[in-house]
Amino acid sequence: MKLPKETKRYCPTCKKQTKQKISVAKQKSRSSIHQLSRGGKSRLKSRGLTSGPGNKGKYSMPPPKNRKRKTKSTKRMTLLYTCIECKKTKMGKDSMRTSRLEIGEKVAK
Ligand SMILES: [Zn+2]
Repeated sequence: MKLPKETKRYCPTCKKQTKQKISVAKQKSRSSIHQLSRGGKSRLKSRGLTSGPGNKGKYSMPPPKNRKRKTKSTKRMTLLYTCIECKKTKMGKDSMRTSRLEIGEKVAK
C-alpha cells in the first residue's frame, strides 16, 4: 500500500484544514503501556513471583520453544497525522491490515 507523505486534513485544534504528515504508530509492548497490569514484569517482581525458592508455576518454566506457526501474514497498521502548524498528532480513525506500507519514499515494513 502506498501513501503520500503529506495530506490535507481537518485539524480540530486549528479548526481548519491543514497540511499533515503521515506516520505509522509503533506497536508497544504490554509492559510499556501498563506496567502494573497482569503479567507485567514489574508487578510480578513486586509480588515475588520472578525469583526465590519453590515452584512458581508458569513463572518457573522457560518459555515454550515451538510456538504456533504464524498464520497471519499482514499486520494491523494505525496511521498518525501530525499537523504542521500546531504540531499536534492525531490517530487515524480506522486501522487497516497490510503487509507493506510505503509512505512517500520511506519504506516501512
Ligand atoms: Zn493543527
